[in-house]
Amino acid sequence: MSLKIYNSLSNKIEEFKPINGNKVNMYVCGPTVYNYIHIGNARPVIFYDMMRNYLKFSGYDVTYASNITDIDDKIINQAIKENKTEKVVAKFFEDAFFEATAKVGSKKPDLIPHATEYIPEMINFIDELIKKGYAYNVDGDVFFRVSKISDYGILSNQVSEDLDSGARISVNNKKESPLDFALWKNTDVGIKWESPFGLGRPGWHTECVVMNHKLFGDVIDIHGGGMDLKFPHHENEIAQAKALYNTNLAKYWIHVGRLNMKGQKMSKSLGNVILVKDLKDSTEGMILRSLILFSPYRNNIEYDEDLRNLYAKEYDKWQRAYKQSLYQLQALDKLSNDVVKEDIDEFKLQMDDDFNVQNVLTLINSIVKDINTLLRSKDYDKLAVKVNTFKTILDVLGINLFVELLDDESLNDYKNWNEARINKDFEKADMYRQKLIEKGLI
Ligand SMILES: [Zn+2]
Repeated sequence: MSLKIYNSLSNKIEEFKPINGNKVNMYVCGPTVYNYIHIGNARPVIFYDMMRNYLKFSGYDVTYASNITDIDDKIINQAIKENKTEKVVAKFFEDAFFEATAKVGSKKPDLIPHATEYIPEMINFIDELIKKGYAYNVDGDVFFRVSKISDYGILSNQVSEDLDSGARISVNNKKESPLDFALWKNTDVGIKWESPFGLGRPGWHTECVVMNHKLFGDVIDIHGGGMDLKFPHHENEIAQAKALYNTNLAKYWIHVGRLNMKGQKMSKSLGNVILVKDLKDSTEGMILRSLILFSPYRNNIEYDEDLRNLYAKEYDKWQRAYKQSLYQLQALDKLSNDVVKEDIDEFKLQMDDDFNVQNVLTLINSIVKDINTLLRSKDYDKLAVKVNTFKTILDVLGINLFVELLDDESLNDYKNWNEARINKDFEKADMYRQKLIEKGLI
């Protein structure tokens, strides 16, 4: 078995075959750091973190890069508003970003390129595009000449929902064609760099292509992002890669659906935004992670309180089953490192099927049911293997149940509680039970 995944470039489910043997390079468009992220922004960060885990679990040697866009009009405006430098604003919100992503269980990418670290490379890149006739300079603004790319639209024009996005292209009299996009922006406001085209700063679409190329070469295995980035951002990345490298930049283009609030896109102006930093605690972060991961990744999620409560209940059920069995097994010195092969095979089968997470959820709940049955029937050898299987799967998904092994003192209390119950010494049993309850262990 091997992974099959939906490639947005071909609009087909394809067998996943990395370009270089076992090595997988993946690049995911990261945040523009000018404000706090909301739970919709967290969706791709959670999905691709899980994807990296799963590819590693499947034996691939994965390098996962996700950029920080630390220069942009929005950052400049925020800096002016706060009377700070762009650098200070960007650093503050980058730190806030990683704090938020840790809260939902996502580890940092292996590589975190910052746009401002690649300015000379971007200038060379744009210069090259001009020399080859793919770009033109109008009074210090440089635009990409889309008409030079015969199959422009290869990624997005196959999907009707993206046609609407065309409306977002702004009218600019300097451009030869409305589809042309900015590579270099001549600007008087905010931070700017010297270039052969004049003072200014690079455009967003150029940043990602240049960082991709610098880190991974002409073509990478996976390029990912949210569905909203397909057009124009990813389309424009492909156009630039076509022009200079004659590639589609990535072999597999992967897109994750949106998380909507009760049928509407989450947005500040609608006042329906939940910031990740405002989630109550890490448990709440894990409930969100579960909700996001167990929703089919290409579909939009319609978020509401009921959906959140559903996953809160699931999470609580998993946590209770795991906690009870782990402590009992520890007290009996029965913990195991083995796994149930059939369960792991089933997990892989479903994950390899373009991440069929709904079937993974069914599997998890059947494992939890088995755990509870084995716990009741005191079949501890089987229970130990089942519990470790459960933990192995949750680790790949990055779902943390926040249950640690008992320390010596608590382990003693737990053993004494067990013993008193066996001896039917109810008074003593009650005393130890109370102690364990006070520590929040049972
Ligand atoms: Zn990007």
